[in-house]
Formats: sequence, C-alpha cells, structure tokens
Amino acid sequence: MKTIKLYCCGCGRDVLPRLTDGKEIYPHRPDLSALPFWKCDACGNFVGCHHKTGNRTRPLGCIPTPELKKARQRIHELLDPIWQGGTMDRKKLYAAISHRIGWKYHTAGIRTVEEADRIYGIVMEYA
Ligand SMILES: [Zn+2]
Repeated sequence: MKTIKLYCCGCGRDVLPRLTDGKEIYPHRPDLSALPFWKCDACGNFVGCHHKTGNRTRPLGCIPTPELKKARQRIHELLDPIWQGGTMDRKKLYAAISHRIGWKYHTAGIRTVEEADRIYGIVMEYA
C-alpha cells in the first residue's frame, strides 16, 4: 500500500496517513466520492490532493485541523481579491509574503493557527 510521510497539524508531528477517498471523508457528497484524501487515523483530520494533476494523490499540503482550515480560508478571502483585482501580481504577492515569513508561501503549508494569524496580519498590509 502506498504511504507517505506528512506533517499532521492535529498531532503536531510527521505521521504516516492512510490514503482514502471521498466516500469515507464526505459520505453525503457523492460528487466527491472518487476524490483521493490522506487521512491521519490518530486524530481523524485529513487533506485533499492535487487530483487534477498527473500525480493525483499528491497532497495539497500538511494535514490541517478544522480551525486551521478556517484560518486558511480567511487568508484566501483577504488574499485572492488583491491579485484578482490586479492591485498586485500574484507571483509578486506570494514572493513578498514568502520573504516576510522565511519559507515559500502557499496557504496549504501553514501549520498552526498562530502562524495563520501572523500571515493574515502581513496580507492585511497589502489589502
Ligand atoms: Zn493527526
């Protein structure tokens, strides 16, 4: 069985998640049933995959907790209109955030709610 090492935000460490699908994760969403997910059985959190790419089971990022998911969503709601509206180029914006936090920024890479709050504050400066 295929397995990978992935950082789990709920466990606070690298784990060996189990590959499953939308039937288990979202039983009431038949439209998602065929999609791949990595689930951490220790805490029950999970992450989706880059399922539209050649490597369809490549995880989107680390395994978030529900709180972290919400915090990331808040960032996207603030971040996306900045580059969508043309105020700043998406690449430049991401590069600016990466420079400030010291790692290559992508929202799925955020590991803690505290980190998300800090990044939210940085994005606010560009909004
Ligand atoms: Zn976990």
